[in-house]
Amino acid sequence: MSFLDNIYKEIILEHSKRPKNQGTLDPATVSQEGLNPSCGDELELHLQIEDNVITDVKFSGEGCAISLSSASMMTEAIKGITLSDAQALSGKFKAMIQGEEPQDELGDLKMLQGISKLHARVKCATLGWITLEQALERYQNTN
Ligand code: ZN
Repeated sequence: MSFLDNIYKEIILEHSKRPKNQGTLDPATVSQEGLNPSCGDELELHLQIEDNVITDVKFSGEGCAISLSSASMMTEAIKGITLSDAQALSGKFKAMIQGEEPQDELGDLKMLQGISKLHARVKCATLGWITLEQALERYQNTN
């Protein structure tokens, strides 16, 4: 096992054991459920949105280490940024997980690049982001 493999596994393990921003928001501006049937991952994402900025975010759910750690890292990455920046970041993250070279804006999220080689886990890693996109779409359609 390479050094990088070790780092990648440690980060995933740490975030899955102690996910950041766990819980619910009451009231949330928008809540969205996400499901990845191929692995059995489930999560619920709650966003607080003010003036087109994600001011707070929480999630709860059950799933594999990759889905939980990716969602945990996502909540850290999107807190405090605008909706359009969050949507752009989501596109860049999905592109990386689908095998493209990661862009600098991804920051710490680049540590998950190794998942792009685990084809069966791509849906686990993107579940949080797809759920975010659905939540933002619903919000934008109703506001
Ligand atoms: Zn999974």
